[in-house]
Amino acid sequence: MHTIAAISTPQASGGIGIVRISGDNARTVAGKVFSSVSGKKLDEIAGYTSLFGSVHDDEGTFDQCVAANYRAPKSYTGEDVVELSCHGGLYLLRRLLNACIAAGAVLAQPGEFTRRAYLNGKMDLTQAESVMELISAQGKGAARAARAGQEGRLHDKICAAQEQLTAAASHLAAWADFPEENVPEVESGTLGTQLKEVQQKLRELLSGFDTGRVLREGVDTVIAGRPNVGKSTLMNLLAGCEKSIVTSYAGTTRDVVEDTVLLGGIPLRLADTAGLRDTSDPVEQLGVLRSRSRVEAAQLVLAVFDSSEPLREEDQQFIEMLGDTPAIAVINKNDLQSRIDNSYIQSKFKQIVYISALQGSGLKELQNAVQQVLHLQSIDPTSGVLFTQRQQAAAQRALAAVNEALEALENGMTLDAVTVCVEDAISALLELTGENVSETVVNQVFETFCVGK
Ligand code: GDP
Ligand code: ZN
Repeated sequence: MHTIAAISTPQASGGIGIVRISGDNARTVAGKVFSSVSGKKLDEIAGYTSLFGSVHDDEGTFDQCVAANYRAPKSYTGEDVVELSCHGGLYLLRRLLNACIAAGAVLAQPGEFTRRAYLNGKMDLTQAESVMELISAQGKGAARAARAGQEGRLHDKICAAQEQLTAAASHLAAWADFPEENVPEVESGTLGTQLKEVQQKLRELLSGFDTGRVLREGVDTVIAGRPNVGKSTLMNLLAGCEKSIVTSYAGTTRDVVEDTVLLGGIPLRLADTAGLRDTSDPVEQLGVLRSRSRVEAAQLVLAVFDSSEPLREEDQQFIEMLGDTPAIAVINKNDLQSRIDNSYIQSKFKQIVYISALQGSGLKELQNAVQQVLHLQSIDPTSGVLFTQRQQAAAQRALAAVNEALEALENGMTLDAVTVCVEDAISALLELTGENVSETVVNQVFETFCVGK
């Protein structure tokens, strides 16, 4: 395999920039562009140690450099790796990369370092995908989940399910070969129990996919309600800064203001909408129209009400407009005397929280309510969750095959029929971990990576 090189730090100026080289000739390539102050060569030092020196090309020395040495197989890729750390100017890094290419390396493809790590058995496909997630994680929850994935938590879960299926399949095979010996484990009761356990595991895994996606992408959230109930104040409280204009006159928040905030580790992509009410002001009308379509398209609506006033007809119209969109009734201004009719709201919303956006109370309850409506409460992001649609599709195929196997068993079909389904399930799980997967799929996974990772 070629020795590859790429700039592994962002394509922008920074304090430090790194060119990573991986492959059989990594030290040879690095040795042609790097000279140490001590005179030592990379071949003379152990793995996980470094040399200080400078880098040069045909035109001379152009920067100081630390060369870190990693020996196969104890490196990220599993091959010999050298990381050259220089000053992080883009000009310098490109010059260094060109020098490495002149010295015999080829430019790495997107994700090629991680792809080699996968091909060399340093990680499975779910771990490689987690690397990608880890890089792009925006919130703590997403980062924790990605790290768990990279550590192989998801891999372990899938393997456990797969081992159970393999055990079932081998019992089935033994029975098929020696039917007269009456292999006891194949007694359909035991087999059924085994399959149901796997079915349960896969269902849990699949329900975790939504959590993974929520943590990664955030929840499209709309703060809505009639004017003056405190939407902008709530928005500001959540955002922790002055994003929308807060005034005590009705109808001033005309446009949609957006911000991503973290509520208990869940990224909410928030929009504060213009007051939802009938208006003749054309500018305001535009804002109202936009907010209606936003509410319909949202994944979550924080429906704000003013507890210091009786419910108005506009509030009721607003509630009717919510339709099926998951919504939380946020009854604001609970620092004031309550005059709102709670029973009507209770009949319309499953989740109700009382807050004072002005005083900043009730956020914890709001956070719990968000987890409840989005069904996030029961899933621990560090237990290994499905991240990508590729993973989800493979897990779905495995579950469908297990369901079919159980059906065949219950309908008294031949054990051959059951065996076929179990084998299908195993092959879907092998595809999930990347142990048995087509080159096309592998290419698709690494296509989304950046060069240098
Ligand atoms: P919006 O039109 O729904 O965005 O409402 P605003 O956020 O602009 O708030 C309208 C008025 O209600 C302002 O004077 C806020 O200070 C006030 N307000 C908002 N939240 C609270 C609260 O929790 N308690 C009290 N007492 N006043 C609030
Ligand atoms: Zn407002």
